[in-house]
Amino acid sequence: MNTLRFLLPLTICLISGVLRAQTLPQAGDPANPTDIPDFYKATLADIDAELRSMTKGTYTQIAESPSGLPLYAVYYGEKEEFHSQANYNSAVAARNPAFYARKDSTTKPVVFFLGPVHGQESEGLVGLVNLIHIAETGKDYRGKDWPQIQKYFDQFRVIIIPHGNPDGRRRSPYDTFVGLPEDIMTKYGQGTKLDGSPWRWPHAKALHPMKGNVEILGAYYNDNGINMMHDDFFSPMAEETKAILKVARDEVPDMTVSLHSCSCTPFVIQNSHVPLFMKKRIADFAKGLNNSFISKGLPNRGENFSLSLADDDPDFPKASFNLVSALHHATGTMSFTFESPHGTIEDKATYENILDIQLTLYQEMFEYVLANRMYWELK
Ligand SMILES: [Zn+2]
Repeated sequence: MNTLRFLLPLTICLISGVLRAQTLPQAGDPANPTDIPDFYKATLADIDAELRSMTKGTYTQIAESPSGLPLYAVYYGEKEEFHSQANYNSAVAARNPAFYARKDSTTKPVVFFLGPVHGQESEGLVGLVNLIHIAETGKDYRGKDWPQIQKYFDQFRVIIIPHGNPDGRRRSPYDTFVGLPEDIMTKYGQGTKLDGSPWRWPHAKALHPMKGNVEILGAYYNDNGINMMHDDFFSPMAEETKAILKVARDEVPDMTVSLHSCSCTPFVIQNSHVPLFMKKRIADFAKGLNNSFISKGLPNRGENFSLSLADDDPDFPKASFNLVSALHHATGTMSFTFESPHGTIEDKATYENILDIQLTLYQEMFEYVLANRMYWELK
């Protein structure tokens, strides 16, 4: 192993008395783009600035990352009293989720936006900072009006975790991959082994926590090597995961999205381990969202896009019980993963595309919940 090569990506900075290693691009790799538009709010500092300027919403720190960074949750709308007397799965076993949370036409719908738990996937962070700005001002950071989205903030309880993995985001040397090769995203997103070869998706999940055979620790993970998407949900390893699950249990969201990105066109991923009725709702929503992308001329999956309702492979486990599965089973929420393009050379999305994709997703989520609410009432 080339020791110099191992050390070069690392600079040590001292913040709040905690030693943190920040990854830098290796020699020969492109620099972080310098032509990022102002509206493209992709950094932890952008979150801090947005939180400080809020006047309508509130925020609180819900966890601290292994390197001492804050995990924030932002709240809009009064929280309802749900008269909980049982946890979700016990209430379902008693044949009525209302024993966990009473939700009827007099209670506000609740939507939960979970920002990126993978640090290199800054697109959801861009979207959520702009969403908070819309809640506060009616406009995104391009100055574009979103009156319908702003109106929803009066009708809903909204919870926003702008970023789910501040360690990973801070460690990622790139604020965007717009115009960069997918391989660079892969290298710093999933990281590299001691021999310099990339871990790549999905093999990057073969070692967890990601410790040992690691040259560059990918931005996927927090500083303890935990991938929140694949934590141990029956005994969570990361404080971030515990806090995310607690927010969901307390808030009882009608709908929850976990924001992700890949070098791809945008799409909802089916939640593989939820009941059939919930898979149908997710497939219905995913189809409508894709149609909105088509009608707006945004990157999309084509008119024949649809999600499978099939059960998992009957012979072998191929779909994991992941964070969005856990969120459903802890709370009953309609939870799913959304994948945005990164804007790599391969997927070709632009900065404008990425923000419009995010805001279109959010607007469709509000609309779907209003049109398709599920009530939990004591008979
Ligand atoms: Zn991801």
